[in-house]
Order: sequence, then C-alpha cells, then structure tokens
Amino acid sequence: MIYKRSSALFAEAQKVIPGGVNSPVRAFKAVGGDPIFVKEAKGAYLYDEDNNRLIDYINSWGPMILGHAHPPVVEAVVEKAKKGTSFGMPTEIETQIAELAVQMVPNIDKIRFVNSGTEACMSAVRLARGYTSKDKIIKFAGCYHGHSDSFLIQAGSGAVTFGSPNSPGVTQGTAKDTLLARYNDIKHVEEIMSSNQGEIACVIIEPVAGNMGCIPPIDGFLEELRTLCDTHNILLIFDEVMTGFRLAQGGVQELLGVNADIVTFGKVIGGGLPVGAFAARSEIMNHLAPLGPVYQAGTLSGNPLAMAAGLAMLTELHTKPEIFTSLADKTEYLHKGIANALTNHKVTHTINRIGSMISVHFAEDKVVDFDAAAKGNNDTFKKFFHGMLDNGIYIAPSAFESWFITDALTYEDLDETIKAVEEVAEIL
Ligand SMILES: *Cc1c(COP(=O)(O)O)cnc(C)c1O
Repeated sequence: MIYKRSSALFAEAQKVIPGGVNSPVRAFKAVGGDPIFVKEAKGAYLYDEDNNRLIDYINSWGPMILGHAHPPVVEAVVEKAKKGTSFGMPTEIETQIAELAVQMVPNIDKIRFVNSGTEACMSAVRLARGYTSKDKIIKFAGCYHGHSDSFLIQAGSGAVTFGSPNSPGVTQGTAKDTLLARYNDIKHVEEIMSSNQGEIACVIIEPVAGNMGCIPPIDGFLEELRTLCDTHNILLIFDEVMTGFRLAQGGVQELLGVNADIVTFGKVIGGGLPVGAFAARSEIMNHLAPLGPVYQAGTLSGNPLAMAAGLAMLTELHTKPEIFTSLADKTEYLHKGIANALTNHKVTHTINRIGSMISVHFAEDKVVDFDAAAKGNNDTFKKFFHGMLDNGIYIAPSAFESWFITDALTYEDLDETIKAVEEVAEIL
C-alpha cells in the first residue's frame, strides 16, 4: 500500500504539534514507520488520505462499537448542532441520558458527566478520598486510568512498593499515595491493605483489563477484591471506561456480577464525542458539589452535542440487546480463525478474549498480568502489525492494546482478516 500523502501530512504536523500527534500512541513509535492519516470512515472501514481502505479494529480505541458514522448517532448530533452547541446551563438531554445510564447499569443511583475518561477517573478518586477522608489509593500494574498524576505510577521492586512516578512532572508527593498491586494476585492486594491499615481510600481497577492487551480477571479475583475492600472499609472503583456499555449493557458489574462502589465511564458512552462519566449510589454521589464538599466542575461537561451522541448510542444498545451477543459471536469467530492460522504456521501465541475484546500476545505462557504481557515478543508483533496493515487491516500500533470489535464488521470482513493473518503468519 502507498502512504505518500499520510507521510507528507505527518511531516507537516510534526512542525507544529509535538511528535505530530495529539495523543502519543497514535505515533507508531512502538512499531516504527509513519502514522496513517485518516480522511473519513464509514461502518467497519477507514479511508486514509492515500485512498486506501482499511478494516478498522481500533474504532477510535473503543467508542465506535456500532461502526463509524452510525446514522442514528450522526443524525442526533447534526440536529442538536443547529440549535446551539454549548450553553453552560442545564439542558433536558442531560437528565435523559443520566436516566438511561442509571437504568442500564446495576448498582448506581446518580451519574455525573465529564469530558474524558481521564477526568472521570481523576474525579472518582477525589470523591473516594473526600468520602472516606483517607489519602492512599491502590492501582494495578498495567492498568490505565488516564493521564492524571496519581495514575502515572510504575512498580518498584519491593513487595509493597511506594510508587515512583513514571513520568517527569509527577511529584514524589503524589506518587507516595499510589500503591501498586499485581493484577490477578489477591494475596498481593491483601498484603498492601494490611500494611497500610486505615490509610487507603480506594482501589481502582479495570475489572477486565484492556490496556495491557485484554486480560480478564481470573475466577474469584474480583469477588475476593470486593470482600477485602469491605473488610478494610475501602471503596472499590471499577474503571469501566473501556468495558462499560461494551461487555454488557451494565458493563462488567453486570457481566461478572460483582458490584463496585464507584464506576467510571468513557469511550462508548460518548458515541464518539468527548464524554466521560462517573457514577455511584446516592450516599456517595451526594458528597459532590454543589450538594457536598468534594469539588468537581466543567465548562463543557454535559455538552449538548456530546449528550446527543451518547444518548443515541446508549439508546441503540438498550433497545437492541442482541448486539452484545452478535459482537461476542463475531469475536469468537475471529479468535478461532486467528488461532488456527497462527498454529498452522507454528507461531507461538496466546489469545485472550472476553465479549468483544480480544488480544493476540506473542507469548508462550498464559497472560494474566502485566509481567506476562511484557514477555510477549515485540519484534514478532511489529512484523505482524505491518504485515496486517499491508493487507488492509488496521490494528492498534502497540502490543499492549486490545482489539475492539464493532458490530459493523461482517463475517466477510472477519474472513478477510483471518486470510491476512494466514499470509502474515508465513513471514513471522
Ligand atoms: C481510555 C481509558 C481511559 C482514559 O480515557 P480518556 O478519554 O482517554 O481520557 C481511562 N481508563 C481506561 C480503562 C481506558 O481504557
């Protein structure tokens, strides 16, 4: 394929935008080469600036669960835009989407809308700290909760580590309040809780991890985490920015039947516009300003265009629940096809899948945590990524990402993808 115009546009962009991108993972740094500039997209396909057609497995990193430019969502935004795009005053549509979200998601009474997943997670942690009057938080290695300071913390080597920042600009003062645990290792969580008695406000977790590839919780892990949080009087935050309205109408809480105290959303809930949200039972949410002392605000929060897109998206998912089965079936079909192709060509791999999330790890062992994911062969991944791209298949340019399946994908698209894997597997 030819990417002449994309490369030219990237050269221009680099002069005025750091690294040429407004979010680092778009830059292809992990796989080499120049990023592709997209011109437009429809359904399951991207059309780039060189007029290549690509089957899209990123889908804006999750939001486009029904495919690009889905007509009900586009129409809702266009109609809303004609009536004014921002007011800084309450609008009826904010209550409509809040009512629908509260109806779809178990165990929440109230929801507040923000502009990104980062904002949602940052605000959820502040609320947990305000509610419990405690400072420390536990997060898991390899889980991503946006780029707010408290979350950019990497593991030290001790069993119970005070985090050290993994980005300059995050202070030691902030880092010391973030305690790092191993995903799927309940003993480790228990140790950290025991040695920080009375100091931990909350545990924040991706209840199905999607930012170190897809890593589902092992049996009993979330249940035991729930129990530990109750025992130690710690709030449990499910970061469902990726999984919310994707793995089920009610996200992982519904799919796996474990309740969180606070839940965060993003991606699908905005239907492709910038939206995040956090939600909980009333007793917790009532601690937020203007009712309570915990401050949180936003000029464009609850923006009418964003709410229109989100409401149209959630309405589709709510009125057509068969979408979730269809998505899971397509993902399973893809899983089998890819596994066969790689096995036939003796390529070492492990595939993780749950619902419409799937990731291919070029690793020998089961991938249950960040360390296991990091053992994947990155050179193989790079070849795989570029090989797939040459065959018109766009997957995330990093081995640590899940693929996002959209319901716009047809079985012909999936077959084309599997055929590409067969071709690429020959050169791995
Ligand atoms: C994408 C993501 C975020 C951050 O959301 P942004 O909208 O990019 O700020 C937070 N948590 C999880 C689990 C995510 O996948």
